[in-house]
Amino acid sequence: MEEIMEKMYLMTPGPTPIPPQVALEMAEPIIHHRSPQFQKIFAEVLEKLRYLFQTKNDILLFASSGTGAMEAAVANLLSPSDRVIVVRGGKFGQRWAEICVTYGIEIIPIDVQWGMAVEPQEIEKILQSGNSQPIKAVFTTLCETSTGTLTDIQKIGEVVKKSKAVLVVDAISGLAADDLRTDNWSVDVVVGGSQKGLMLPPGLSFVSISEKAWDIMEEKIPSYYFNFKKYKKVLSKPDTPWTPAISLISGLQKSLRLIKEEGLENVFIRHQKLAAAVRDGIEAIGLKLFSKNPSNAVSAVRAPANINSSKLVSMMRDEFKVWIADGQGELKGKVFRIAHLGYMQRFDVIIALSALEMTLAKMGYKLELGKAVAAAEEILRGNYA
Ligand SMILES: *Cc1c(COP(=O)(O)O)cnc(C)c1O
Repeated sequence: MEEIMEKMYLMTPGPTPIPPQVALEMAEPIIHHRSPQFQKIFAEVLEKLRYLFQTKNDILLFASSGTGAMEAAVANLLSPSDRVIVVRGGKFGQRWAEICVTYGIEIIPIDVQWGMAVEPQEIEKILQSGNSQPIKAVFTTLCETSTGTLTDIQKIGEVVKKSKAVLVVDAISGLAADDLRTDNWSVDVVVGGSQKGLMLPPGLSFVSISEKAWDIMEEKIPSYYFNFKKYKKVLSKPDTPWTPAISLISGLQKSLRLIKEEGLENVFIRHQKLAAAVRDGIEAIGLKLFSKNPSNAVSAVRAPANINSSKLVSMMRDEFKVWIADGQGELKGKVFRIAHLGYMQRFDVIIALSALEMTLAKMGYKLELGKAVAAAEEILRGNYA
C-alpha cells in the first residue's frame, strides 16, 4: 500500500473506532482456546457482558457479524409456520422480517413510518386479538440505525410479558449507548454485535437468552454451527463448542473493562451529551433531525433541499477525511447519519460538525461557519463523565 499521511475520522454507525489499548491487546500472540489462560479471559468476558446487558441470563458469543446472531435467534427459537410479530420501521426491522420469511415463519408485520417509534399498544392489540394460532415471538430493534430512532423497549416488555410470546430485541447499535435493562424490562433475547458500541472490529456477535426463551425452543435440531444448545452445554466451564474468535475475545475483555471502569450509567450520559451536541449543532445551521424519537447512538439528519446526501458523505470522506454514513434504502441521498457511538468523546463530534459545515459550504449551502460547532460547545463544555 502507498504510504500516505492521512488522518481519518470514523463516525459511522458501525464499524466504529477502536481504543488503542484494545487494538494492542488483539495484536498479542494467539493463545490456545482450550487452556486455563483463555478460560480466565472468557469467564471475565461473560461476567462483564452480563453487566453490559443488565441481565443474569446466559449470553452466547458467536464468530459472526451481528446479522449472524439475528439469524441464529430466528432459527433456534422458531419452527416453520410459527407466527411472529415484526416491527418494521427501517432497514433493520426489515431484516428481521426477511430472516423470518427465509425460515418459513409467518410474520405479522407492524409497519411504522420511518423515523417514528412503534406504539407499544399496536403490539398489545395483536397479542390480545385472540388468534387461533398463538404468537411465539415479537421482533423489534432498540436503535433502528437506518433512521436513528429509539424504540421504547420498556413499554413493549410490559406488554409482551403478559403473553406467551418472547421479546427479541436487536440491540446491535444501541447497546452501550441507549439504556436497555434486559431483566427489568423482561427482554427475552437481546442480540449484540462487536463493531458498534463495544469498540471492537466486526466479527463477534452476542445473544442473551432468558428462561422463557429457552423454554420455547423446540426439541428439533434447528441448526448446527449456531445451535444455541451446543453453546449452552459448555458455557459453564466456560467453553465454546468450536474455536472462538480468540483475538477478538481478548480485545473484548479490554473494551468491557473500559466500559466497567467508566460505569454504564456514565457511558449512557456521555452518549446522551454527544447526541445532544450533534442535534443542537445541526439545528444551529438550519438542518433538521430525521427521527421523532432519536437514539443516542446515531443521528440521522435530513439533507437540505438541493443537496444530495450521498454526495455530501463522499465529499466529507474524500476531502475532509471524516467518514459518516449516507441514508439506507429509501433514505439514500436524502439523509446522512453521524454516529457518536463507542470510543467517542467531545472532540469527535466537534470534528464531525466542523467537517459538515465545511462540506455544506463547499456544496453551496448558505451557512455561517462555526455556528454548529459553537452550539455543540455549549453542550460539551458542561461537566459530564
Ligand atoms: C449494524 C447493525 C446490524 C448488523 O449488522 P452486521 O453488518 O451484520 O454486523 C443489525 N442491526 C442493527 C440495528 C445494526 O445497527
